[in-house]
Amino acid sequence: MKITEVRVFRKEDLKNKLRAFVTITFDDVFVIRDIKVIEGSKGVFVAMPSRRLKEPCPKCSHRNEKGSKFCNQCGANIDGVSSRPHFEASGEERENEHKDIAHPITLECREYIQKTVLEAFEKEKSKSLVH
Ligand SMILES: [Zn+2]
Repeated sequence: MKITEVRVFRKEDLKNKLRAFVTITFDDVFVIRDIKVIEGSKGVFVAMPSRRLKEPCPKCSHRNEKGSKFCNQCGANIDGVSSRPHFEASGEERENEHKDIAHPITLECREYIQKTVLEAFEKEKSKSLVH
C-alpha cells in the first residue's frame, strides 16, 4: 500500500498546538481525512483522526467532550473533572480521551505515514516562508 497523495492544510494560529490538517490518499483509491500535525514538546508528530470521548457533567449529566472547561448544558465549571487539556497530556492520557477512527496497526506502516505526512508538512512550511 502506497500513499499517493498528501494534502496539507496549515493552521497559522501559533497559540494552538495544531499545526495542520492532512488528507492522505492510498493507492489513488482510499482517502483518510482529519489527520493532524501537532506540535508536541519533542517536536511535531502525526495524530490519526480521532473522536473525543465524552463524559457526563456531575451536575446535570449532560455528556460533554472530555477536557471541556464548562458544561455545554448547564454551564457548570467542570474544569478539572478530567485531566489537563489533551494536547499537553501524555500519550497514555491522550488515549483515554480520544479514540482513533483510523490508524495503522504495524509500526512499519505508522512510521511510513508519519514520515510521508511530516515531509509534506515541512515542504508546505518552507513554501510559505518564501515571500
Ligand atoms: Zn451540566
